[in-house]
Amino acid sequence: MRPSTRAVHAGRPAREPDAPLNAPITMAATYVAGGSVEYGRYGNPTWSAFEEALADLEGGDAGARCLAFASGLAAVSAILDLVGQDQVVVAPRHAYTGTVMQLADLESRGRAKARLVDMTDTAAVIAACEDAALVWLESPANPALEVAEIEVIAAAAHEAGARVVVDNTFATPVLQQPLDLGADLVVHAATKYIAGHSDLVMGAVVTRDDELHEVLKGRRDLLGAIPGPFETWLALRGLRTLPLRMERAAANAVELVSRLRAHSAVLDVRYPGFGAVVSIVLADAATADRLTAGTRLWVHATSLGGVESMFERRRRWAAEASTIPEGLVRLSVGIEDVEDLWDDLSAALDRVAP
Ligand SMILES: *Cc1c(COP(=O)(O)O)cnc(C)c1O
Repeated sequence: MRPSTRAVHAGRPAREPDAPLNAPITMAATYVAGGSVEYGRYGNPTWSAFEEALADLEGGDAGARCLAFASGLAAVSAILDLVGQDQVVVAPRHAYTGTVMQLADLESRGRAKARLVDMTDTAAVIAACEDAALVWLESPANPALEVAEIEVIAAAAHEAGARVVVDNTFATPVLQQPLDLGADLVVHAATKYIAGHSDLVMGAVVTRDDELHEVLKGRRDLLGAIPGPFETWLALRGLRTLPLRMERAAANAVELVSRLRAHSAVLDVRYPGFGAVVSIVLADAATADRLTAGTRLWVHATSLGGVESMFERRRRWAAEASTIPEGLVRLSVGIEDVEDLWDDLSAALDRVAP
């Protein structure tokens, strides 16, 4: 079946008389002894429903399995924790700041070595894979929206004996299935498009490698970065409409991109051609700050992937890469009427135009 159908039907309770159509929220710290779960840190039926649905979307019929985590960064750290002492992680110079900070943290504690690369330079990424244990890709990447040649890089990384992980938060499984492109692991901030309503923080890892799945499950059991059942239930409810939301948000993004390219206040528009995150570059930080303070509909907030349109000047964060322009504003295009979005945005752009 196709993704929009699977998003609606995966992870449902068995169809039996009087069974609920939706997985209920199971609030449980512990379970009656003798079963397969035993304790609330080891498993939860609401997690299982969410995990089944996301695994289905990322991995189709080919036996993918998913683990839900307390946040996207909890999922990231569970994966980075697999890297052995002094091993090398190849990672993009531009990526989600929390991921880059975790790598810097590992390095500063002498745990692992980060080799940062320009992910769009495939030859350089492949050259960096030699002697690496893990190749980290984020595509499209935060916040400059670079795209990596996942399939080519994954093949080369495997040749060099490295595992490949793709942060698929921006594209979502609706637009890109990295496991089919050769990735060993997919990581998500479910906080963003999967949950889709800016009302919870959650993460997930998907893999077809049973051994990796078990190791990561063991780390989650032991370190305890587990999501709440209510958050998980909301995330699953959000996932049901992911294809529909993405379709609308992406169509809005395409329309806005063509209009933004023609606006005199916008020096550059970065858009990979799919998805609903767009970055624009304005003259400088002050101009960008005036834009984000000057709208009524667009809300100035960090994060992305909600039904509501939001935007942010990324360099307001000290941790953002210094190679990102001071005037870059990342737009997360929502599902509102595109004419209302443009009216609000273009009026604010007109006010900061030279
Ligand atoms: C938000 C985000 C994360 C981190 O997720 P949290 O749920 O905030 O911990 C990781 N990767 C990307 C690409 C993100 O956008």
